[in-house]
Amino acid sequence: MPESYPLTFRERTRWILDRRQGIARDADLSPQRVSHSLRETEPDGLGGFASILTLFLTNRECPWRCLMCDLWRHTLGHPIRPGDVLRQIDDALAADSASSPVRPDWLKLYNAGSFFDSGAIPREDLDGIARRASSFRRLVVECHPTLVGPRILPFRDALGCETRLEVAMGLETAHPEVLERLNKGFGLPEFARACDFLKREGVDIRVFVLLRPPFMDEETGLDWAIRSTRHAFDCGADVVTLIPTRDGNGAMEALRASGDYAPPRISSLEAALRAGLGLRRGRVFADTWDLHRFCADAGEAAESKARLERWNRLQDPDPGEPGH
Ligand code: SF4
Repeated sequence: MPESYPLTFRERTRWILDRRQGIARDADLSPQRVSHSLRETEPDGLGGFASILTLFLTNRECPWRCLMCDLWRHTLGHPIRPGDVLRQIDDALAADSASSPVRPDWLKLYNAGSFFDSGAIPREDLDGIARRASSFRRLVVECHPTLVGPRILPFRDALGCETRLEVAMGLETAHPEVLERLNKGFGLPEFARACDFLKREGVDIRVFVLLRPPFMDEETGLDWAIRSTRHAFDCGADVVTLIPTRDGNGAMEALRASGDYAPPRISSLEAALRAGLGLRRGRVFADTWDLHRFCADAGEAAESKARLERWNRLQDPDPGEPGH
């Protein structure tokens, strides 16, 4: 571990914030407009495919300061007002239905933070959000594990029995010391407790795992991505998404300069996905956004993206092989 990287949560938070200097937030965000939206499809775990609309809600910055996080760049410097997020959703749903006659099966509402953080998504808007989401078969939201608890149950109930709630959480790594240094503000026991609660309450779990976070070399980074995937399934995850660790927030660039972080190789992402799928414990996906950062050239990036997307879709890196 680098000598300069602080040991306590408070000092790490300061260190991370200090390295943001010169990195701007998105300038054109509006509290009344989603920052982004996209359509995708995903295996639904039942042998079919779900068509998904993902809305990236605009809201204030997440109160945690995780070492590798750059999501704050896509947030406002102040809270939104009650009603803003409902307007964002209404307008985005209207724009989506105007652009495609096919209604999506699932809705993902990602807010660059925690959906159940009342400073981010006003509590008075939760019933209205539930009403809007109740026409989808599934709603996926993200949440910090320490905010998972009884507070989410009224929202789950307001969705009604036709809409399944799924909560996505960033475990990032099951390596206890590296998890602490990522400054996530939780440890493995808190993560396991959140998973237990969600399982008990009939809420599905999606887990984000980092490939090669800081303080790991390539081989260790791959090994721990696989171990962390297994750990997530042991805790009850239904879905694991593998994310190659990126820089872009100032802190990661500082660690790169000190030799404590390097981007993972694309071959490791493929190996991690292959190993995760081989566990046969649940759905595993590789995040394929911006893959050129991990590739030697554009040709390698295009080939690898096509391969990973095929594996994501088929949930099998060797379709047609004996035994598959
Ligand atoms: S909890 Fe999530 S959104 Fe918040 S700082 Fe950490 S990684 Fe970023």
